[in-house]
Amino acid sequence: MNESKSQSDVRATNSEGLTDYLRDRDRSCPQCEKNIRGITSQCCPHCGIELILRIGLDQSNFTSFIAGIIIITSGLGFSVFVLFLLICAVLTSIGNISQLQQLVVALGLGIVISLVALLLWLRLGRWMRCQTKGRRRFIVALSMLVPLTSLALFLMVRYFR
Ligand SMILES: [Zn+2]
Repeated sequence: MNESKSQSDVRATNSEGLTDYLRDRDRSCPQCEKNIRGITSQCCPHCGIELILRIGLDQSNFTSFIAGIIIITSGLGFSVFVLFLLICAVLTSIGNISQLQQLVVALGLGIVISLVALLLWLRLGRWMRCQTKGRRRFIVALSMLVPLTSLALFLMVRYFR
């Protein structure tokens, strides 16, 4: 009894908030895409679907988070691919085995660094979304160190021994 009463209260509040919000704003109905500015009930006057007003995430904050994941996993993808080729080369004994083994170790280290960075990034996600735009950009720029470190490890073993 109480629950259905509180649900109808919520519905009334939603309807009020919705009509207040649309009183002086041009917005499209998500169903029929016609303008629903100034509607007086919770239903679209054109197609009759029931509408709600809701709070969403700021997508611009989310972009930095996704950018970091792409940057970190790009290095990871490269390392895994080259590691696979090297393991095939070691198994079929093509080329200088000791250098191939060192490359495998360097790439394996790069993969571990990338995975740790990725886990850290996923844990920092919520915190990052509440940072200023400048700080988020700085942190995303810092994330580029992860694939660069993997690449540097690979190049050091390959060319500077
Ligand atoms: Zn509609």
